[in-house]
Order: sequence, then structure tokens, then C-alpha cells
Amino acid sequence: MKRYFIETWGCQMNVHDSEKLAGLLAGLGYDRAERPEDSDLVLLNTCSVREKAAAKVFARLGALRRIKQRRPGMLLGVCGCVAQQEGEAVFRRAPYVDLVMGPRNLARLPEILEQAQRDGRSISLARDDDPIAFPASTAARRAGPRAYVTVMEGCNKTCTYCIVPFTRGREAYRRPEEIVAESSELAGRGYVEIELLGQNVNAWRSGEDDLASLLHMIDRIRGIRRLRFTTSHPGHLKTPIMDAMRDVPSVCNHLHLPVQSGSDRMLMAMNRGYTRAKYLGKIDYLRRAIPDIAFSTDVIVGFPGETEADFHETLALLREAEFDQVYAFAFSKRPGTQACDLAETLSEDEKQRRLQELFSVQESILGRRNAALVGRRFEVLVDGPTRLDSDVLKGRTTCNRIVHLDAPPGDVQPGDFLDVRITRAHAHSLSGAVLVRAGAA
Ligand code: SF4
Repeated sequence: MKRYFIETWGCQMNVHDSEKLAGLLAGLGYDRAERPEDSDLVLLNTCSVREKAAAKVFARLGALRRIKQRRPGMLLGVCGCVAQQEGEAVFRRAPYVDLVMGPRNLARLPEILEQAQRDGRSISLARDDDPIAFPASTAARRAGPRAYVTVMEGCNKTCTYCIVPFTRGREAYRRPEEIVAESSELAGRGYVEIELLGQNVNAWRSGEDDLASLLHMIDRIRGIRRLRFTTSHPGHLKTPIMDAMRDVPSVCNHLHLPVQSGSDRMLMAMNRGYTRAKYLGKIDYLRRAIPDIAFSTDVIVGFPGETEADFHETLALLREAEFDQVYAFAFSKRPGTQACDLAETLSEDEKQRRLQELFSVQESILGRRNAALVGRRFEVLVDGPTRLDSDVLKGRTTCNRIVHLDAPPGDVQPGDFLDVRITRAHAHSLSGAVLVRAGAA
């Protein structure tokens, strides 16, 4: 039996796309290999959101070339956003690559593979809607209590730094009945938490339906105990969606809401389409509606033209919003974006200095917030063992905090809901003692 190995970079969309690729390969009679050295097909599912991410892909291809030289007949493919961004250039930079496939070509994998085997090379960069039409049941999903469900693909926004609209194309929305059918099928297979995916998930719509009505639809599915959605754009976070977060029982009290900057001048230059005050207004509305809600966000430091004062407005916004998680990165130019033509005004060292200052501000905010949770009780959904220590089980609260379980009962399984009292706070997670089992999945 032929074997495949898929390496995934980037966002949840890419993780789920890799599950879809794995499902298709299983349908073609491939088995999963533990490492590339044992594989007949290696696929890199790539991310190009930052310069470093793309550079890493070519460095990784260099290492895989040596494996391929020892395994004649092994096929090597580049998928995802770097494939779409670079296209034929992948073959020029790495002529030993056999196939290049953009993120909206997943369902074509069988024919792309066949062509690569027949003609020695294959490339497919069409921007079809097939990720939406993709037969969901094909995805070879990870075990465990949580599953991703794609609701839309692409993005119609034009944030000046972002390459996603170029690599993932225009927005395409899945029909509600398909999303509900897939979520029901997953509930039937024992998945208790659904995370709805889209680059601009809260822009999803179908006729009169919007994300708010979709949340109500999925909440009615028996067996779905937790419902999440990512990634939202503040501009699309309308009151009906915020009210649905308050009113729909299974919707978790956590929201990932990228802000990118705390300076209106920078938000304008990034073409984000909202102001600092508007953004904080949404946070405030949700905090009044759902008191124990947790927020995470994305921030870019060092965007061209960012002054020290702009940067300090970002730090002030972090102090005011009190996020439970901040994913922050230094600005890097992405080919084809508007910001790519802007002159850099900050050195890499200065960008890194600002990034470190931002992390230390966030570290103290999070340290204080986590410390305040010690002694509190939370329902924790068990995910499974931690990566570092397979004897330690971890899980998540509805507000998306990671909890390491102090000596849980021997028979605790992934998918179990536990009532846990927080015993210790760590930099980015918590520890807790199991009080009672809050009802298995
Ligand atoms: S909303 Fe902006 S940052 Fe997000 S994917 Fe679309 S263009 Fe990129």
C-alpha cells in the first residue's frame, strides 16, 4: 500500500484542508506514514501570511530533496497558499517538486496526482469554489472531541498587508443545509465541539441567513455541546451575531477578533475598515452581554509609518481590552499586496524591540488575569495528553483556556466533560483539580 505524509503550516483552515487531503488519499488507497522517509507521497500544505513562512517552505523542500534522492519514485507536492502565490516559480526554485496545487483545488488531487505520475509534473491554481462543494465526509479528521467545519472560503476584504485574498480568492459561502448536515453527521460520530471556519467567518450568509441564524441552526443538533467560529472581522461583527453569542446555549464565551493595531492612523493605512473606538465598542458590548467572555486577537507591529506614539496606542488598547491571548507579529511585506509598495520606516531590530515590549505588556496582563482564576470552577472538555508529557491530560474551558489536569481519575478520556477547580496559574495556561465528571460526551 502506498503511503503519504502531509506537513501542515498555518491556520485552522490549512489544518482542516490537510484533513480533506488525507481523506482523499485514503480513498485512493494510500495509508498514512509517520515520517517522510517512509512515504511515497509528501505534501507540504503551506502558509504565506508572513515572509518567514514562505521562506521556510523552500528550506524544507531542500531537506525533502535529500529524502527523495534516496527514494526514487517518491512524489513531492506543494499545496496551500505558497503554492498559489508562487505557482510555476516553485518548479523554478525547486525543480524536484512534482506537483503544485492551490488551496481551492483540493477535490482535484486525484487527477493532479495522476498527471504528476504520468507527465512527471502537474500544477493546478484554479480558484474554483470546490472547497465549498468538497464532500465533507471525505475528510480524515483527527480523533478527539472537536471538529472543524468549513462554512466559507476566501476573503473580499482588502487589508493592505494581507495576501489571503490573492491566495484564497473571493468569498464563497457553503449552503446552510450542507453545514448542518455535516455537523449532524459529526455529532453522530461523537464530536461534541464544532468550530466553524472561514477567513472572514462572520461575513457568511446565504439568502436571509447570516452567521447568527446559522449558530441557532447548529445549536439545535443533538450532541453538539460547544460551538465556536473563527476568524471574525470586527467590521462584520453585527449586533445579531453578538446577541446570538449571548443567547445560543452551545456558543462558547470566547471570540477571536483580530484588531491588528490600536492606532486609528495605522488602521486606516491597513484599510481595516474600523476605528479603535468602534472595535472597543464591540468588546464592551460583548462584555456587558456575556460577563465572563474571553477574547484573543492578532496584532501587527512595525507597519510602515508606525510611530512610537502609534505603537503606544496599541499597547494602551491591549491594557484596555485585556485579551486572554495575543498573536503578534512584526510586519513583513507580502508580494502583490498594497503594503508591499510602501517604504519600510522601521529597522527589523526596532520591529523586534516593539514586539518584545508588546509581549511583556501582554504577559503581565495575562499573568494577572490567570491568577484571578485560581480557586474558580470551570467545565473542562478533555482534549487528551499534552504534547510534552503524555501522562498529563489537558482540556479547554468554554472560554478557550487550556487547563492541565492534576491527577485526574484513571478513566478520564478525551471528550469527557469535567468540573474542575483551578489550582495554579501559569504564563499561558492553568492547572486544575477534577471535582466531578460533568457528564461524558
Ligand atoms: S480580513 Fe483582511 S486580514 Fe483577514 S483574510 Fe481578509 S484581507 Fe486578510
